[in-house]
Amino acid sequence: MSRECLLIIGGVAAGMSAASRARKINARLEIVVLEKGEYVSYGTCGLPYYVGNQVRRPEELVVYTPEFFRRERNIDVRTGHEAVEIVPGQKRVRALRKGSQETVFQYDKLIVATGGAPATEIYGSDAANVFTCNDLAGAVALKEFMEKHRPRRAVIVGGGYIGLEVAEAFVANGMAVTVLERSGSALENLEPELSQKLEMRLEDAGVRLIKDAAVRAIAGSGGPPRMATVVEYGTSGSLDCDLVLLATGIVPRTELAREAGIRLGQTGAIAVDERMATNLPGIYAAGDCVETPHLVLGRPVYVPLGTTANKQGRVAGENAAGGNARFGGIVGTAVTKVFGLEIARTGLTAAEARAAGFLCDSVVLEHTSRARYFEGKRILLKMVFDRNSERLLGVQMLGEEGAGKRIDVAATALHAGMKIGQVAQLDLSYAPPVAPVWEALLIAANEALKKMRR
Ligand SMILES: Cc1cc2nc3c(=O)[nH]c(=O)nc-3n(C[C@H](O)[C@H](O)[C@H](O)COP(=O)(O)OP(=O)(O)OC[C@H]3O[C@@H](n4cnc5c(N)ncnc54)[C@H](O)[C@@H]3O)c2cc1C
Repeated sequence: MSRECLLIIGGVAAGMSAASRARKINARLEIVVLEKGEYVSYGTCGLPYYVGNQVRRPEELVVYTPEFFRRERNIDVRTGHEAVEIVPGQKRVRALRKGSQETVFQYDKLIVATGGAPATEIYGSDAANVFTCNDLAGAVALKEFMEKHRPRRAVIVGGGYIGLEVAEAFVANGMAVTVLERSGSALENLEPELSQKLEMRLEDAGVRLIKDAAVRAIAGSGGPPRMATVVEYGTSGSLDCDLVLLATGIVPRTELAREAGIRLGQTGAIAVDERMATNLPGIYAAGDCVETPHLVLGRPVYVPLGTTANKQGRVAGENAAGGNARFGGIVGTAVTKVFGLEIARTGLTAAEARAAGFLCDSVVLEHTSRARYFEGKRILLKMVFDRNSERLLGVQMLGEEGAGKRIDVAATALHAGMKIGQVAQLDLSYAPPVAPVWEALLIAANEALKKMRR
């Protein structure tokens, strides 16, 4: 009797988590992974640190190689294989391999883990000195260009977390950096009170941030030996530079799924249920190609993050292998650290809460990461809550120390659907070298209670 086959399209966070979990659940299953690139199972989140020389070699970002998967987990990883068609009626996937014949793969269960692609629809973005930093091959190409041509002036299109992390990497390489951000703030959904601090820090680091600056076109020689390129933005702005990085966001890669009849959701990403199953029998999807339920908003959102991709991949892998796992949803938790500042969020901003129809209110305060006599660093916190239900809706924190992981307490409270009164009662740790006796989150919850009782 032939073995059942699980086929997975995409070999990074979601795809390889799915493959590994499926193997744990079912030792007999045949597992094949198709990856169109040359690398699998690497830390995409580490790419800016490779560009910034904190990670020396691209191989250091690779968690496991295809050989490891073959030898240790009996998983057949085919790099350089691009899936070009899913034929659900025949349970087949057609794949192309560079320079060779088309191969057809038969499956019993299929997991689509095709990820997201950088949004690059700017005129002139195909020039040789325009890069993205969204996969290992892209980061390697960017670094090779930097080492060979020593660009001095960089323009980064997009002031989101990828744009800012790469800005720091460029500064570490001695480049003059300008960030063009189409919205009114760096990290678009950052609360204005925190955004001010971040912008001051960027200025101190020598990064020029131009806001409300939508890029229209990239023009010029487009590459070495003359790198001079002009980035046109706003109604009449223009900037000369030697290198452009596009960091304008991620869009879900869904063409393959859509053409096969897999249903997309309201956000444009693949719609899945809590078992990560699509509308087609035997086909699952996970990671940056799917939309995810937001537990505070109560509707699906598109928030492409590695932490979610890993968990969803694991759930999809377990279910495809005959198990019964569920992914419960997200509360919108994210963190970054740039130029010495940790910036973290969970839940909704005040603007997002208002737009969602909550009767929201907020408190903003600054407190310390440790007892003052232990030279604690300042933490700026904004807490958003619902005056009707008295529920916590969101928290953002910014500071040089402890802001990043402190957000996890607020994220846990959101998962539990806590009211502000419950947050104020949380038993949080204290010792002078580690934390102050009153944590910023507890003080904020007490302030919010006072506001609601007024
Ligand atoms: C610079 C950067 C920094 C980041 N930092 C963080 C962070 O700090 N924290 C965090 O939580 N998240 C972070 N992320 C996001 C995180 O990396 C992604 O959410 C995660 O990689 C998504 O994993 P995935 O497997 O769903 O998709 P991807 O990583 O996009 O992988 C999908 C794979 O599928 C392959 N593929 C696509 N189509 C086909 C096809 N037709 N045939 C074969 N193969 C195909 C692609 O080549 C790709 O390798 C960062 C992302 C970037 C770019």
